[in-house]
Amino acid sequence: MPKRKHPPRPDNAPCPCGSGLNRERCCGPFLDGTALPQTAEALMRSRYTAFVEGHTDYLLDTWLPRTRPPLLELQANQQWLGLSIRATSGGEVADEHGEVEFVARSRIAGRGVRLHERSRFLRVDERWYYVDGDFPG
Ligand SMILES: [Zn+2]
Repeated sequence: MPKRKHPPRPDNAPCPCGSGLNRERCCGPFLDGTALPQTAEALMRSRYTAFVEGHTDYLLDTWLPRTRPPLLELQANQQWLGLSIRATSGGEVADEHGEVEFVARSRIAGRGVRLHERSRFLRVDERWYYVDGDFPG
């Protein structure tokens, strides 16, 4: 059984990715495996939600096999505070490549952590995958 840091959120709660939608109308179906994200940004948002909720399996499943780490240990004491999307390029339904630049804020043991990353995504057989990222600025 996948280990989760937190119990699942109710589906009518606001989605952790900050879209303003309910979880069930946003990242929920992707994390539950009942739908696939159609854009790189949707995948990126659902991966953020997976970090918030501790879905390690989802993070690995949506990582391109070529760049995927053998295992992923989430920080047990990391509290996620919010996501903001800064820019996207490509990554639409008909694209093969996409980039999403974002800032994700969290707190680890009381210290604020700001992750500013430009992530690359690739669509293979109708599915978007996270490839890797760099850190602008
Ligand atoms: Zn969401």
